[in-house]
Amino acid sequence: MTRGRVRLPLKVCANCVLPETFPGIRFNEEGVCNLCLDFKGVESRQRRKAEFRGKFEALVKEYKGSGTYDVLMCYSGGKDSTHTLTILKEEYSLRILAVSLDNGFLSNQASQNIRTVVEKLGIDHIFFKPRFDMLAKIFRHCAKNNIYPPKALERASVICTSCIGIVKYSALRFALEKDIPLVAYGWSPGQAPITSSVMKNNPQMVKIMQKTLYDPLYQIVGSEIKPYFLEDKHFGGSYRFPYNIHPLAFLDYSEEAIYQNISRLGWKTPQDVDANSTNCLLNSFANVVHKRRFGFHPYALELANLVREGYIDRIIALRRLNQQEDPHIVAMVKEKLAVTGDFFGD
Ligand SMILES: [Zn+2]
Repeated sequence: MTRGRVRLPLKVCANCVLPETFPGIRFNEEGVCNLCLDFKGVESRQRRKAEFRGKFEALVKEYKGSGTYDVLMCYSGGKDSTHTLTILKEEYSLRILAVSLDNGFLSNQASQNIRTVVEKLGIDHIFFKPRFDMLAKIFRHCAKNNIYPPKALERASVICTSCIGIVKYSALRFALEKDIPLVAYGWSPGQAPITSSVMKNNPQMVKIMQKTLYDPLYQIVGSEIKPYFLEDKHFGGSYRFPYNIHPLAFLDYSEEAIYQNISRLGWKTPQDVDANSTNCLLNSFANVVHKRRFGFHPYALELANLVREGYIDRIIALRRLNQQEDPHIVAMVKEKLAVTGDFFGD
């Protein structure tokens, strides 16, 4: 673990963008990292994509029309989940319930985008806003403490992991209680592996996985965390557990095409977020904390995956990773969360 400021410049993989500070990374003599050396190539990826797309389409056939809605979409308002929403609606004609979690730091433009897009697509929508005093307590704690295993922090900051955990299990609870057979996410192909892109929620597994998030959050806010997770009654056998899907893993993915597709709906890029988010202001603060504490950017793995697989240009990814967060936004978040102290290292 690195505390304080990291000396620059860092050695970075010659093929992707992973830095030498990334946990477990090794480079060969040419400066290529072990993840790049393990990559099986684009051809094998295309075969996997066709396989998982087939699985998804079989599920659509089987479950369409079987619940109150066909799919519950975890809709952040960002570019990827907006794009996913258009595909589910326009290409698969699914009946969708979109749910957006407002963590108190949704950019105004993102919030406007959500309203505009669901209206334009004709989709039922819920804004779900957990009480802010409780969320602030969690985020404040996460700014100073590592409450998750190191593996979890390779792909997201402590703050993001907590927030997304609340999103995931609240969504699962909504889906169970409304009997919705599919839960969709807009993960980019770099954020989550294709192997998890069509996956049945197994109650025993869910119980174990949920514990890794629930227990640390319970330590911070006690039983106030209960409404956002599954309870014993949900595991009693009377609920139908849905499939999780993240279609961008098995569909074409091009940022340019995505921006083009969603702008026709009136979606606009928020001007106040950092280079790696198109919806959340808290993200800027979470990135700063993560970089200073661990010495690598919480989006390094996602961007490295996207570069390695040819989805984005390496130069663009490096630029995003090197871009400093807007100090005004970071200051605004610190103030709203009432965080103090020198844990930033400056
Ligand atoms: Zn690499």
